[in-house]
Amino acid sequence: MSKHDIGLVGLAVMGQNLVLNMANHGYSVGVFNRTTSTTDEFVSQKTDEQQITGYHTLQELVDNLATPRKVMLMVKAGPAVDAIIDDLKGMLSPGDIIIDGGNTHFDDTNRRTKEVEDAGLLFIGTGVSGGEEGALKGPSIMPGGSPDGWPHVKSILQDISAKVGENNDIPCCEWVGEAGAGHYVKMVHNGIEYGDMQLICESYYILKHALGLTNEELYKVFDEWNRGELESYLIEITRDIFTVLDGETGDYLVDKILDTAKQKGTGKWMSQHALDLGVPTTLITEAVYARCLSAQKEARVRASKILSGPDKKFEGDRDQFIEDVRQALYASKLCSYAQGYVQLNSAAEHFGWKLNNGDIALLWRGGCIIRSTFLQDIKAAFDKNPELENLLLDDFFRNAVEKAQPSWRRVVATAVELGLPVPSFTAALSYYDGYRQARLPANLLQAQRDYFGAHTYQRMDKEGTFHTDWIRER
Ligand code: NAP
Repeated sequence: MSKHDIGLVGLAVMGQNLVLNMANHGYSVGVFNRTTSTTDEFVSQKTDEQQITGYHTLQELVDNLATPRKVMLMVKAGPAVDAIIDDLKGMLSPGDIIIDGGNTHFDDTNRRTKEVEDAGLLFIGTGVSGGEEGALKGPSIMPGGSPDGWPHVKSILQDISAKVGENNDIPCCEWVGEAGAGHYVKMVHNGIEYGDMQLICESYYILKHALGLTNEELYKVFDEWNRGELESYLIEITRDIFTVLDGETGDYLVDKILDTAKQKGTGKWMSQHALDLGVPTTLITEAVYARCLSAQKEARVRASKILSGPDKKFEGDRDQFIEDVRQALYASKLCSYAQGYVQLNSAAEHFGWKLNNGDIALLWRGGCIIRSTFLQDIKAAFDKNPELENLLLDDFFRNAVEKAQPSWRRVVATAVELGLPVPSFTAALSYYDGYRQARLPANLLQAQRDYFGAHTYQRMDKEGTFHTDWIRER
């Protein structure tokens, strides 16, 4: 038997579907799973055309791989990855490649890239997005790690990835950068996903509570939105959610679902690192907090009986307001991506990565949860100016936000007047208004710090560091 093109360890939902995807593209794949019965069951279901062979030990798998050996890990992120890497170090030869396709924190990938390279091997840490279906039919793949490893895995990863473009031939998989860059980009993808979802939820909430739209009407609104500049996977599935009935009661299922959201933590990772870098990723952080507040269901129910808000009704033009919400969603989404890219650029500078922002937008064009036509405009902006400091400064987006601004402000003002929470819309607008100010109130802040802590301050009219005895000068 000829040796396998690649080995894959970890046959849970993602691993199995990636193996099938590879086999469907003509690759010969050796597989191993800690629980061997899972391996046997999986391999027993393959078709004659699919070249998939199961092994009961990691050593057997490694012995049957073509060189340089490529072993992809799709196991639970964390200590399991370190344990398997440790085992593989004793089995692989210099130049062989270990690929981690799990949802790994970029710090771990930074560390593992060095450890694996120190052992004479190459390491690829890659984000894989798209869930079960994406893994089978074409995910978005964001690889980073050892640059010398990329040429060896490029064709397999690009072949199995999602494709976009007029001829459906542009892979949503391109080299991102060294060490943890791939997993960092995946983390930013997930953070942006949190932001997009929260913005859609706020749109739903305000349309439902300010205008009283029914699920049938919401379906029509989202269907309409999905035909324009907001066209995306998340708008599409949101539209469809409004059509699904509960089998038991016959009511709309969305109205039966508890309003508490869970999270696996990647949005939080992005916000945590934004704070470490000192960049204002406010919208995504609000989206994380919105999930936290949603989880405090019992406390909210208690508070709802004690705390009051305005008792006002919407009195404007309903059709105009629906269009206002659409524009607010678009402008806020733009701010979210602008913030995401500012964080990416800051991380790239911090870690010494050379990221291609246009290519990153392309990686997210297909296969993943945030896929949308809008990403093509982001790619175009970075292709035009790879050094673009902030997406909001690109002509296309600057004009788009300018056009949306009156609507955006009306929506935030209306929500505030009616007492409806729209934290991400508001955070986005505050970011926009803050970013466009040449002068912010931090002059007063510097004065306060100097007053109580002698932290000193800088002046606008001369160089240097100054301190004032504020009490004596009063
Ligand atoms: P998972 O539930 O995260 O992990 C289960 C797999 O890990 C099983 O194959 C399990 O083997 C193996 N495993 C766990 N601990 C192990 C250990 N100590 N030693 C060896 N193997 C161990 O699986 P998943 O949902 O398919 O996800 C795989 C990776 O992809 C994860 O990092 C996940 O975060 C990431 N990811 C998931 C999705 C998704 O939609 N599910 C999307 C993108 C990325 P046993 O069968 O023996 O328990």
